[in-house]
Amino acid sequence: MSEKRNTPEITRKERDCIMRIVEMTNDSFPVRLCDLSRAMDVKPPSAFELVNRLSKKGMVRAKNGMISLTDDGRRTYDRIKFSHRALESLLVKGGISADTACREIETFDYIVERKTALAILKTIGNPSECPHGLPIRSRE
Ligand SMILES: [Zn+2]
Repeated sequence: MSEKRNTPEITRKERDCIMRIVEMTNDSFPVRLCDLSRAMDVKPPSAFELVNRLSKKGMVRAKNGMISLTDDGRRTYDRIKFSHRALESLLVKGGISADTACREIETFDYIVERKTALAILKTIGNPSECPHGLPIRSRE
């Protein structure tokens, strides 16, 4: 039996969608579906399907073609960013370039739990900033 996971199951595409919604508006929701599809470089029907899936998971709300994150979606965004920056710091400390670390970590940061990220940070001396100079614990 595997340990029960605390994180909601999402796919890589759903992860990218959540991150993009925040990043493309600099944190001021909502975004238009057509802008989101362009930013993600997918066709509008694909973006629509992604948004629908995230909406069923309670992470996104869509109204009149305008998309925003729910509180759950926001928490997921924060958790992914936290794991991303913790892992990035670890890899860069190990001699990997920040760009390479960033690219590789994008492929799995969304399945890393918060307690794992906390353990990683502790191991490397609890840095306050990621290799890009961004705060690791921005919303605490
Ligand atoms: Zn990064």
